[in-house]
Amino acid sequence: MNIHEYQAKDLLRGYGVAVPRGGVAFTPEEAASVARELGGPVWVVKSQIHAGGRGAGRFQDNPGGKGGVRVVKSVEEVASNAAEMLNHVLVTKQTGPAGKEVKRLYVEEGADIKRELYLGLLTDRATGRVTIIASTEGGMEIEEVAHNTPEKIVKVAVDPATGIQGYHTRKVAFALGLEGKQVGAAAKFIQAAYKAFVDLDCAIVEINPLIVTGSGDILALDAKMNFDDNALFRHKDVAALRDEAEEDPAEIEAAKHELNYVKLDGNIGCMVNGAGLAMATMDIIKLYGAEPANFLDVGGGATKERVTAAFKLILSDSAVEGILVNIFGGIMRCDVIAEGVVAAAREVHLHVPLVVRLEGTNVDLGKKILAESGLPILSADNLDDAAKKIVAAVKKEAA
Ligand code: GDP
Ligand code: MN
Repeated sequence: MNIHEYQAKDLLRGYGVAVPRGGVAFTPEEAASVARELGGPVWVVKSQIHAGGRGAGRFQDNPGGKGGVRVVKSVEEVASNAAEMLNHVLVTKQTGPAGKEVKRLYVEEGADIKRELYLGLLTDRATGRVTIIASTEGGMEIEEVAHNTPEKIVKVAVDPATGIQGYHTRKVAFALGLEGKQVGAAAKFIQAAYKAFVDLDCAIVEINPLIVTGSGDILALDAKMNFDDNALFRHKDVAALRDEAEEDPAEIEAAKHELNYVKLDGNIGCMVNGAGLAMATMDIIKLYGAEPANFLDVGGGATKERVTAAFKLILSDSAVEGILVNIFGGIMRCDVIAEGVVAAAREVHLHVPLVVRLEGTNVDLGKKILAESGLPILSADNLDDAAKKIVAAVKKEAA
């Protein structure tokens, strides 16, 4: 789960990470009032969306205008810039061409930037350890730095048995070219960020840029936090920060029914049990020259209700021009699947071709239910046959 920058900064501040003062605003009036409270002379008005690249991004209705992060010098300008950003769609390198509508702003005191650095924490799967990633090349995309100048990135893995130690933070501080009192400030900063990472079961904490100010202080100018979904049950306060407006509505609906759903760009909807079978189904659709519209794993112990929900979810995607149901009935019996498919197809007035391939427990009963439903369901005998049939049916509809 992702959260907004201002939420990440609030959490990190609570752990003692140095963060500029600021406040969230939902209207231009609120933005002005936060600005007045902070006092000037410089403020930064920042779009809050779950995507990076906001500074270099542009608003859809004003591509020649300013970006999603603006430095201003009066309360009036805070309000007028807030009005230009709120309820407008910001397009960045990370949002894709559709962009994201800005619903909240963060108004922050302006910082005097001397250097922009990069600091990240993540769990490195190769070593199985929390790893600190640091670079002198802050403010830009770390993926680009890693690609063009990998020697400018330093990685320090922390052994969970010892936890974070002075030599870890010193190694990072020196790699960042810090000196004097900055080394101690950086140590405190990194230790606090590490504690937040471990305590809150984070997957990523990214500070880009981490800045050195004109007076030599170290501050987090941007903050991104991503949490391990499987640990959210023990962090109710973090779970409460979820902003569903930033998430795909279909994926939220899927989560409610415990379905594993990921929307893709193709036109053939897939309903499959088991992640491996779902991957194989997507592969074979591609092999026969079409593209899957989604990944959907209904799981092993799905009920008729869950299958119905899955079916509705696939059909809610307007790009879907055909559906392939591919189920191996092991724990879940084929007759249950067939009943779910028939019930859902009736309920949503199925308007696209549907191919069903069932195999396993009660397969004959399942096929009988489909055949006797009176619905135009194409039955398939194996995966190859099923994929060919759905691809052909969708092509025929399009012609
Ligand atoms: P991102 O583009 O979504 O990663 O948003 P950031 O929060 O990283 O902001 C982008 C850039 O805006 C930063 O790299 C800074 O160069 C600039 N910026 C942000 N806050 C300030 C500030 O307080 N003062 C100045 N001068 N620039 C800022
Ligand atoms: Mn940034």
